[in-house]
Amino acid sequence: MEWKKIAEGVYNTIVVKQEVEKIAEERIAICRKCSFDSKVVGRKGYERCLKCKCNLNWKTHSLSASCPIDKWQAVEGISHDESNKIDEITGNDD
Ligand code: SF4
Repeated sequence: MEWKKIAEGVYNTIVVKQEVEKIAEERIAICRKCSFDSKVVGRKGYERCLKCKCNLNWKTHSLSASCPIDKWQAVEGISHDESNKIDEITGNDD
């Protein structure tokens, strides 16, 4: 997952918004039925996707992220304010 998508996920786990939480819950429910979820296969440590190696808490909270095998998709239309906040936090000036 690209650094900006990771930053977006981290940001969304800190600044909680109900609509993002709902999407993250729907996504993690799908992951927990997937054989690439580290918890499903009994791996220790933080919950991660064994296909893309991502932290699933961050990945499912990143609206622009998507499942590497298309079990769930990115949510288009992240707001300009949210995008600017992520850039502020990460120091990105693209
Ligand atoms: S992101 Fe996709 S491949 Fe990875 S655990 Fe979730 S559903 Fe499975």
